Amino acid sequence: MKFVSTRGSAPPATLSQAIRHGAAPDGGLYMPERIPAPDWSRLDPDVPLAAFAAEFLKPWFAGDALESELPAICAEAFDFPVPLVAPDPAQPSLSALELFHGPTGAFKDFGARFLLACFDRIGDRSAPLHVLVATSGDTGGAVGCAAEGRSAVRATILFPRGRVSSFQEKQLTCWGEPVDALEVDGDFDDCQRLVKAAFNDRPLSDALRLTSANSINIGRLLPQAAYAAHAVLQSFTGSRIRPGVVAPSGNLGQGFSFLLARTMGAPVGPLLLATNANRTLRDWYENGRYEPRASVATLANAMDVGAPSNFERLVALPIRDRGLRVELVDDGAITRRIRADFEASGYIWCPHSACAAEAYARLSEAERADRPWLVAATAHPFKFADVIEPITGAPIAAPPALAAIEHRPTAKRAVPARLDALVEAIEGRVDA
Ligand SMILES: *Cc1c(COP(=O)(O)O)cnc(C)c1O
Repeated sequence: MKFVSTRGSAPPATLSQAIRHGAAPDGGLYMPERIPAPDWSRLDPDVPLAAFAAEFLKPWFAGDALESELPAICAEAFDFPVPLVAPDPAQPSLSALELFHGPTGAFKDFGARFLLACFDRIGDRSAPLHVLVATSGDTGGAVGCAAEGRSAVRATILFPRGRVSSFQEKQLTCWGEPVDALEVDGDFDDCQRLVKAAFNDRPLSDALRLTSANSINIGRLLPQAAYAAHAVLQSFTGSRIRPGVVAPSGNLGQGFSFLLARTMGAPVGPLLLATNANRTLRDWYENGRYEPRASVATLANAMDVGAPSNFERLVALPIRDRGLRVELVDDGAITRRIRADFEASGYIWCPHSACAAEAYARLSEAERADRPWLVAATAHPFKFADVIEPITGAPIAAPPALAAIEHRPTAKRAVPARLDALVEAIEGRVDA
């Protein structure tokens, strides 16, 4: 299986190379030459997700250096439950696909664990890969957790001083070797600028064997396509009706993963993407024009994206495989949805999941009754307790995994927002 760039002027890569490099050298995103189909006769929705994923992803890994490692990679990545729950007995067609039972409480755990399990096998103990990630939200914590204890990959997390909540800071600074948390004297854009500058300095990025864990890496999308296929197949096997799916969308990583699963033959019915007030995707859906904009801050801040990075992959799919709808949900609607569903059933959505729940609620009664619907719930509400508790008036208890984070010791180092200072911090650590 060869991987080609969405911009068409990079040499074809193997899967391992595509994962190692993240973006293609021509600035495009890696896509397979053709999207493969698994052997559906061997896919049983009743087997655990790790075993299901190893079978489902087999054709992607065929002939690659990582082929024989796929079952072990899946066993490492999918080691927590992914329940389909009924949040409200009065809405029998609605299931929440709870993607937040991993160690850092958001669906980013899937991509980070799968990707780091791959990096650890691509890297070398004597020459580890080095993941450099700028974060203000869920990715940094998931990457730190997934990197902890590994020997052929290390991770450096950059976060802006004074701009993350105290729980977020805990989650970025609590991981042991080989994870390093750097508190940058600047804002999130400064952190991103530093990471970009480091990657663009070729001698530096080669010498440090830098790699990225952001959502353009095909290694983050594959595990998401696997849980997507597993969940819809479970629903389909019971009802014999293709379930509709509603997924919250920022960089279009998760939304694209459901499309990928469908293109691979998974029984995904209508696919509805829910954005927050960032309207780039909605405008494209309505008028066919893709016009990236500056992002606006919303309650669903992990989706504050004005230029969805996986959009290039969406338009690289044949038109027949692109079927989706886009619904925009602003902060007022997020707040009302969290309150209404809490009052009706006691179920609590995080602000991102609430965008999807609201998009489901806007379907016509006939559409809702027509088939089962899976709403992707992307983060544990505890992570956004500061937003949710004032809306519901009820305290949210920490689940065990997140409570464990609160009790971990933390460490961070301060760095000025300059590339030379970043390099010094990294090299000081590597030599130590
Ligand atoms: C990252 C994130 C999203 C958006 O996912 P994309 O793959 O970027 O579309 C939604 N919800 C939560 C909680 C997230 O962390």
